[in-house]
Amino acid sequence: MSWACYSCGTVNPNSVSECKKCGGVTAAPSKFYPAWALGGAVLFLLAYIAAMVVGGVVLGGILKLPAGTAHVLSLVLLAILVLAAGVVLARLSWGKTIIEAGIASVIGQLAGFAIVNFTGLAAGLGVIEFAVCAVVGIGLAVLGAFLGEWLQDRPSTGS
Ligand SMILES: [Zn+2]
Repeated sequence: MSWACYSCGTVNPNSVSECKKCGGVTAAPSKFYPAWALGGAVLFLLAYIAAMVVGGVVLGGILKLPAGTAHVLSLVLLAILVLAAGVVLARLSWGKTIIEAGIASVIGQLAGFAIVNFTGLAAGLGVIEFAVCAVVGIGLAVLGAFLGEWLQDRPSTGS
């Protein structure tokens, strides 16, 4: 994760509190963050649909796993994908994209829930189950974003 200097626009790593170029301490306004929340929602939407399709269609339909097993595996996959989407979002974006990841996760999963349930693409989740997943998903997305920001702060080794 990084921040852009308000004075000169230099992108600085989070590990420094002063701009490397001009010594400024003010970060540029974060007007692009809402866009990241919306853009990120697409990632979470894809994660949700992928998990439901893999669980319902691939595991349950093609591999003929018992419905319960396929269902649990699709939830596990959803958790992994949501975490991964949080990491990707944080790494792609400037600035601290933590809250944005949580918001994006809710928007994306809601959209995914609506699409899967209205199109009958896969069995999908019940409303209560989805609500639980959505709340857990916020936590995972935020955790993923923290991980992504942390990874971004690592000094690059020889790249
Ligand atoms: Zn500067």
